[in-house]
Amino acid sequence: MRDAALTRLRNFPSRMANVRLRDRLFRVMLARVGMPRMRRAVELDLSTSRLPGAITSLESSPSRFDIPLGMAEMASSRTDLTISIAFGLHRLMSLLRNKRIAVESIATNPESPVTEMSEELKQRTLGLLRSFGVTIVGHTRLPRRPIFRGMGVLCTNAIVLAMEMDRGRIEMAPSAETARMILETYDRLGIAANRLAEFLRSNGLAGQASHPLGGLVLYPPFAQLAGLGWVGRHGLLITPELGPRVRLATVFTSAEDLRFADDGRHRWIQEYCERCGRCIRDCPVEAILEEPVVSGDRVTHIDRNRCFPYFLENYGCTICVKVCPSAAGRTLRSSPVLWVDWLSSEWSLSIAASIV
Ligand code: SF4
Ligand code: SF4
Repeated sequence: MRDAALTRLRNFPSRMANVRLRDRLFRVMLARVGMPRMRRAVELDLSTSRLPGAITSLESSPSRFDIPLGMAEMASSRTDLTISIAFGLHRLMSLLRNKRIAVESIATNPESPVTEMSEELKQRTLGLLRSFGVTIVGHTRLPRRPIFRGMGVLCTNAIVLAMEMDRGRIEMAPSAETARMILETYDRLGIAANRLAEFLRSNGLAGQASHPLGGLVLYPPFAQLAGLGWVGRHGLLITPELGPRVRLATVFTSAEDLRFADDGRHRWIQEYCERCGRCIRDCPVEAILEEPVVSGDRVTHIDRNRCFPYFLENYGCTICVKVCPSAAGRTLRSSPVLWVDWLSSEWSLSIAASIV
């Protein structure tokens, strides 16, 4: 015990030097490789507003804060921060590649897309999503307000996807394990959204994937409209099944015969949040606002200036997801898909039985 402690003490200076070197290398890679690609990805997303027939944002629509780019800029300018690195460059490249595919593949949409989905096609869609690990699915018709400023969307109907984040690794937050799992979930969901768009196209429908990392719409209120849950006090979507332990993406489609959920069905979550307040109390830097700030149509839940430095130094933090009582205690076994208001009651029952 004493020997181990002495060895650790002896190695301390070299470990500190390693951390500093790794930190410097990370910043160089970010500046030379990551950030130029992130900027190109933003430009590509903005090009969607110039697509013929694109439905664009309103004056009152939110501006998108590009979290990866914003974080990268903060990481390279704030040399006082020690960045916790938790993902490989290959994961970042995969995320950016799938963001590019989401935009570029729009060109392969059918010229005159069909607007109906047969029951058989809906079931096949369900099977596809299940095979990609998508956990909850809903639909909504797009109002223009949640479209981020400068972005464009081709169809008004949307299939909204939620993918579960592993409960065990959320409970380890903040940790490298948690951060890696979250990035992996973003990546898997981005791939699933692209595959769904591709599948719809191959069946004569138009499809436009919106990637989970920096999408075309503000996801939490959009997923609330689709009946997946309700926006919590930390600004994340709380689903009744998994709490905030999900990542969100969307595929816009020409299919018009989608059934829409009652978007007010989860209003009870708001009252639950009012009584709870745990994320506000447990945030280590008091970044979650007691009352959200409403400015025009924009609602701010988090003080970024407090959250982001801590986030960068502590493997993406995620404490507010971990402590949310709705995130604990349940999981959806072997990724069945809960299809909000589309499935038969028999299927809904089989889902209920699979929640443990
Ligand atoms: S990620 Fe961490 S620092 Fe940011 S709001 Fe959540 S708990 Fe607070
Ligand atoms: S921790 Fe409590 S207050 Fe915060 S989002 Fe979850 S339920 Fe709401």
